[in-house]
Amino acid sequence: MPYYYDATWLLLLPALALSLYAQFKVTSTYKKYAEVQAASGIAANDMARQLLDYNGLEDVPVEMVAGSLTDHYDPRSRVLRLSQTTYSSRSVAALGVAAHEAGHAMQHGENYGPLKLRSLMAPVAQVGSSASWILILIGILLNAMNLVGLGILFFTAAVAFQLVTLPVEFNASSRALAALEGGGFLTREETDQTAQVLRAAALTYVAAALTGLLQLLRLIVIFGGRRE
Ligand SMILES: [Zn+2]
Repeated sequence: MPYYYDATWLLLLPALALSLYAQFKVTSTYKKYAEVQAASGIAANDMARQLLDYNGLEDVPVEMVAGSLTDHYDPRSRVLRLSQTTYSSRSVAALGVAAHEAGHAMQHGENYGPLKLRSLMAPVAQVGSSASWILILIGILLNAMNLVGLGILFFTAAVAFQLVTLPVEFNASSRALAALEGGGFLTREETDQTAQVLRAAALTYVAAALTGLLQLLRLIVIFGGRRE
């Protein structure tokens, strides 16, 4: 059983390092700028409401959701949900997070291509990420390389989903920054601070995609040369 003694797991080290760094960075910058109050004095939920209205999304409600960093835009029910910590906060970090989520609502409102693609891929990717390992394991046990191949194919679908997520996230953040400064919600200096928070958050998505890519490379290295 050569698989269990292989050294290909070393391939994952750069991704692991980046994941840890990104996690540290997002926590530390968020914490830092959650303490900085924006000069405009507007609360995140009011700002989000104005952004949505300005972009013709009056029918998208802004709701509060339990927890911290649970902020998200739900495309199925078309609701923007801000966490308890973000909702009525006037901090530079909270305004950034809320504007980023409003950015996703704008993407949805104008049928932004990568977001549409991402939604189409989501079901396959969700099944794929868990089914792939089961197929690969059964394939190894039964020595059935076609099952292993199918598993790798499913895993590829999951990695493709992570890659399509990147432009969606970057675009939501650039929309957020433009809207925050353009709308007078943040000053130039505050926008730079918010950009640091959003960049750190984006880095966690980059780390996840890199982990997936290297994991895929590892599977190819292990099984690539094997044919029955
Ligand atoms: Zn996002």
